[in-house]
Amino acid sequence: MKIRVLGSAAGGGLPQWNCGCHNCSEARAGRLPSRLSACVAVSADDEHWVVVNAGSDINRQLAETKALHPTSARANPIRALLLTDANIDHTAGLLEFRQADYFLTYSTDLVKKTLCEGPMFSQFAHGNKRWLTFPAKDKVRVEVEAGDLRIWASPVDGMLPSYAGGQQRAGAAVAYVFEHRAARFVYAPIFLTLGKDLAAELEDADATLLDGTCWSDDEMIELRLGTRTARAMGHAPISGPGGSLEALAALRAPHRYYTHVNNSNPLVDPASPQSAVVRQAGIAVAHDGLEIEI
Ligand SMILES: [Zn+2]
Ligand SMILES: [Zn+2]
Repeated sequence: MKIRVLGSAAGGGLPQWNCGCHNCSEARAGRLPSRLSACVAVSADDEHWVVVNAGSDINRQLAETKALHPTSARANPIRALLLTDANIDHTAGLLEFRQADYFLTYSTDLVKKTLCEGPMFSQFAHGNKRWLTFPAKDKVRVEVEAGDLRIWASPVDGMLPSYAGGQQRAGAAVAYVFEHRAARFVYAPIFLTLGKDLAAELEDADATLLDGTCWSDDEMIELRLGTRTARAMGHAPISGPGGSLEALAALRAPHRYYTHVNNSNPLVDPASPQSAVVRQAGIAVAHDGLEIEI
């Protein structure tokens, strides 16, 4: 199985256009690597690809990823777009797929409803474009014709985006599990707690890319970049009690990464003390263009 990280940033990217924080300034000056919106592409055979989430960078990400280029005048290797949630940085790029003759989107019922109640995204549920949904409660098989790649959606604790009220709701977020032969990859760029369902999925994974939005719960407030904690935005912080680092450090998966890293997070700087802590735990921070083969 091949996993391509097309982007590894939380909403806003690195640098974020309106942010003059230390990390964004360093990225603008070229001293830290820039990051596009978190997005991965997965394939079992190099021919059929599944993309998870599409933010406003998707056009550039597709252009920069040769494996996802069209194979003829109107054919391309993308078999489906899977959405983990309804946040704008994971869904705004859906509009870039509007020219498709046929297009398959997958999400929970709630995510589809949240996005399609307005007119903008409803075109993806009609005619030759299909938007299939799955219930929020259980782990469920996602049927996509993508060679031998098998895909499941697994529920995680999550919140609706702030534009939709921001409440914690079943179905507000999922993780995706990809299997090919014995290889197993878990993509969970958004979760509020590392609950037992997600922990069970991670147990036997060969590769994991997990929510690394904020190092600490109050980081945005501390840096005067926002008024909400990581948890209030639907993201478990990495450090501190109940943070994801503890759990992730205990896993056996040979490829353990944080992704969806916010520009406020000290992990965007490989030289930060926090980056050293994560490295010591055997975990890496994904970067744009990262390729993992399992
Ligand atoms: Zn996000
Ligand atoms: Zn910033």
